[in-house]
Amino acid sequence: MYQFIDGKLVSQSVKDRIRDEVSELKAQGKEITLAVIIVGDDPASRVYVNNKKKACEYVGFRSLEYALPAETTQEELISLINELNDREDVNGILCQLPVPKHIDDKAVIAAISVEKDVDAFSSYNVGKIMIGDYDFLPCTPAGVMEMLSYYNIDVDGKNCVVIGRSNIVGKPMSMLLLHKNGTVTITHSRTKNLADITKEADILVAAVGRAKFVTADMVKDGAVVIDVGMNRDENGKLCGDVDFNSVAEKCSYITPVPGGVGPMTIAMLMQNTLKAYHIQDNQ
Ligand code: NAP
Repeated sequence: MYQFIDGKLVSQSVKDRIRDEVSELKAQGKEITLAVIIVGDDPASRVYVNNKKKACEYVGFRSLEYALPAETTQEELISLINELNDREDVNGILCQLPVPKHIDDKAVIAAISVEKDVDAFSSYNVGKIMIGDYDFLPCTPAGVMEMLSYYNIDVDGKNCVVIGRSNIVGKPMSMLLLHKNGTVTITHSRTKNLADITKEADILVAAVGRAKFVTADMVKDGAVVIDVGMNRDENGKLCGDVDFNSVAEKCSYITPVPGGVGPMTIAMLMQNTLKAYHIQDNQ
């Protein structure tokens, strides 16, 4: 019998912890601000930005939203980022990705000051994650680690397989599992005999971006399965990378979609914003 890993529950506990600390800071007249930039009108990005704003309200941060038209030039976007970098009342900055095609997302990420890079996407912060000495958590992978810890799932010595090697999820996920002494295999679209590898996983993390990609024959009995995917199925319904109905009964623990990794990502963003405030407050 599998157990759900409840991302709503765990994210609530993280946000409540942050809210308590923020209310103490507010009582001392301090304010914490996250600036969120969205360029264009991608509906999925709009939903993510609204969820981030709601989370800011919940924990007690001030959120500033900059909704720019799709025709915004790279220069205009970077000029706004520079302005926010210079503002002492702004602690964290994030630009919702993807940006329209005429804008180079690497240039945008590089423009955000490393002390305000609450998504931890800059080369500097990614490098810090690599060496295991970091201020900002990579939000989605850190959310996964928080869930594992909440359910007392030990990573030490376990075979961990990550499907996907993106800079946002797969690679940092692998690093965090490695830092916890997992024996980590990273797989991707060129991996041969994927199912043979995934079947060895005690902890399997799917970050592929393909609906119901992981099927029961790819999963070991008793595995912990973490589904990062956010896809639409043939009926337009939100679903993960894991074929939940067939896989769940083989697992010891499994995350649902929705209600699994998604809420955790936002909670970790709140944690990074609080961290950004502390870093800037100590300078
Ligand atoms: P991505 O940049 O598209 O990366 C997908 C990865 O999957 C790539 O490394 C790709 O390999 C690999 N892949 C594709 N087809 C494969 C196959 N047939 N076999 C094995 N590997 C394969 O996506 P991402 O940004 O990492 O996101 C992955 C999923 O997580 C998406 O559904 C996304 O929406 C979701 N997501 C959710 C959250 C959340 O908060 N829950 C946050 C971020 C992302 P190659 O490198 O070889 O192309």
